[in-house]
Amino acid sequence: MAKKRGQSALQPGMRIGYLELLEETNQWGKWNCCCGCGNIVVRDYSSLLRSKEKGALSSCGCLMQYRQLDAQIKQAREKQLKVTKELARLLDLKVMIEKQKASR
Ligand SMILES: [Zn+2]
Repeated sequence: MAKKRGQSALQPGMRIGYLELLEETNQWGKWNCCCGCGNIVVRDYSSLLRSKEKGALSSCGCLMQYRQLDAQIKQAREKQLKVTKELARLLDLKVMIEKQKASR
C-alpha cells in the first residue's frame, strides 16, 4: 500500500472492545470493524482511538441492546416475583378465611 497514513495507532486485526478492525474504508478516517456478534460496522478513527485509550467496551450497538435486554429481563423477573408473592399472600388469606368459615 502506497497510501500514506499517519494512523499507525490503529492496525487491521486490532481489537477494541468487541470490535475487530478489518480495514480502512475508502473514506479517510473510517474503518470497517467486525463486531463479536458478526455485524460489520463503520467507525470513525478518532472515536475508535478514544475507545482504545479508555479501554471502552465498543460494540456495533449489540452490547447496549444486550444490557437493555438484561435490565428488562431483570425487571420482568422482579415483577413476576412480586406477583407470585402477592398471589401467595392472597391464597394464604383465602385459606385462612375458608378455615374460619368452616370453624363456625
Ligand atoms: Zn455487535
